[in-house]
Amino acid sequence: MTRPYNFSPGPATLPEAVLLQAADEMLSWRGTGMSVMEMSHRGKHFTQIAEQAEADLRSLLGLTEDHRVVFLQGGASGQNAFVPMNLLGQNPRCDYIDTGHWSQKSLKEAARYGDVHVVASAAQPMRDALGEWQPYTYLPELSADMVRADAAYVHLCGNETIGGVEYQTFPWDVLPPATQVPRVVDMSSHILSRPMDFSQIDLAYGGAQKNIGPSGLTFAIVQRRLIEERCPEAMSICPSVFDYRLQAANQSMLNTPSTYALYLAGLVFQWLLGQGGVPAIAEINRQKAALLYGALDASSFYSTRVHPQARSWMNIPFFLPEDRLMAPFLEGAEARGLLGLKGHKAVGGLRASIYNAMPLSGVEALVAYLAEFEKEHA
Ligand SMILES: *Cc1c(COP(=O)(O)O)cnc(C)c1O
Repeated sequence: MTRPYNFSPGPATLPEAVLLQAADEMLSWRGTGMSVMEMSHRGKHFTQIAEQAEADLRSLLGLTEDHRVVFLQGGASGQNAFVPMNLLGQNPRCDYIDTGHWSQKSLKEAARYGDVHVVASAAQPMRDALGEWQPYTYLPELSADMVRADAAYVHLCGNETIGGVEYQTFPWDVLPPATQVPRVVDMSSHILSRPMDFSQIDLAYGGAQKNIGPSGLTFAIVQRRLIEERCPEAMSICPSVFDYRLQAANQSMLNTPSTYALYLAGLVFQWLLGQGGVPAIAEINRQKAALLYGALDASSFYSTRVHPQARSWMNIPFFLPEDRLMAPFLEGAEARGLLGLKGHKAVGGLRASIYNAMPLSGVEALVAYLAEFEKEHA
């Protein structure tokens, strides 16, 4: 059977080479006679796997000694709670930018622990020189005075996985300096997809199941200045296993980590290094997005709704001219091995998620099908 192209938003497609290697090592990792799943997390083999994974992630992202990397469980939704529990120990004020579904989840969760202020929101329709934009299809305008000068942090979602709205560059130049208000980014669905300057970001977190590996693993990349100097203590209600300081001091092994998921993430990091790292994969991601948006823009049959300056490279929602075409579209797609294209119910329509592991050939196959379906139904 040839492998289909899986456009699901997450858990998402993984590089075939990674799956083949994992299959090869399933029963015995490098002659140990043990599956990685069966190893003690404190034994020498798994210690080597975990250290290599962290070192490779650091190298891919260009992290320095200023950064702590922790791997936790609980999903990105768990992190939505761990962030305020870790950072509001002394100051309850936290500011959130509202760009869609996932920022709202984050700010609602934070409101259970702190005093949330919405910096700016894309909840209203917006008009500019390029046209009229529906709610959550654009990035709201920002200025430094919108953020409370004494907030413990300002939070944004780098890529709204459902809306397909991405910060193509982070808005740091129009926000207060990080030394005044630390910056927190939900990077679940675009970490490692394009170069990012981590010296500008105090805390980046996310779940692994979009662009890194299997679900069950989350990451937090945190500046030492944030958790060691600025917020040296978590809120007293913060469970120890979710305290970034304690996990960082214990190499993310305060308790048993999600060992197999971390091993697979490590294989993905190795695969990415083999591809030439983040700049090389970013160039492929740019090509994939250009090909798909180009096809959608050139057609008067399909439509997109996201503002050109906020278009995501990773998640591309698009629409058919009539709802009744949805079922035949998805049926034809599946018959051609193009899976997971149904959009999220909050947005409707279709969505192609084209993370790092989706090859250019997958987007080419999708674009060919788009043309074929249009010809048949236009
Ligand atoms: C998927 C996703 C989440 C939620 O992830 P879980 O691991 O299911 O909790 C949060 N934020 C973003 C941006 C996501 O894409």
